[in-house]
Amino acid sequence: MLPIGVLCLQGDFREHIATLHSLGIETVAVRKPSQLKQISGLVIPGGESTVIDKLSKIYEIREPLIKLIKDGFPVFGTCAGLIMLAEKLLDGTPTQQTFGGLDITVQRNAFGSQVDSFESEVSFKGESVSAAFIRAPIVAEVGPSVEVLSKLEDGRIVAVRQGNLLGISFHPEVTGETKVHEYFVEMCKTANFKTTN
Ligand code: GLN
Repeated sequence: MLPIGVLCLQGDFREHIATLHSLGIETVAVRKPSQLKQISGLVIPGGESTVIDKLSKIYEIREPLIKLIKDGFPVFGTCAGLIMLAEKLLDGTPTQQTFGGLDITVQRNAFGSQVDSFESEVSFKGESVSAAFIRAPIVAEVGPSVEVLSKLEDGRIVAVRQGNLLGISFHPEVTGETKVHEYFVEMCKTANFKTTN
């Protein structure tokens, strides 16, 4: 398969690259719009969504990526990456924008501040995955076409899929967990999306 791109503007992109490499998948460190071709999908890492928003505009990645998302390109957003894929945002900054694509409302920093970060086992597609929640968002509302993949015990939604878009609140890449990445690799293989730009 073609390599998988990892958006390397800000955040823990190195951990995603390492996780994909551990699965034998080649990667492209995407920093320029021209690198959004010859890849089978894209990972948007966790970090700080306001910064990813600003840098994606400065690096002129925002518009081509939005077009790709609309065309059905596979994208996997973790934490800040999930925020970037949400159509609606709660507790964003006044000027903050997302790429959109997922018909969900996401609430930023839903578990409190950095000191309230925690690790937990989460059921993902029926399998237990080890997940770190770091100033994590929560999926507050989902539209009718959105599949819920994981919920916490209290019912809060932390993983969703809609078509070729996958979004999770947590970080599997910092706990050595690979199952969610394996799931995304399968999504990319099945989509077999041809980037033409
Ligand atoms: N709270 C961060 C934001 O709003 C996300 C945190 C993370 O990606 N670990 O972007």
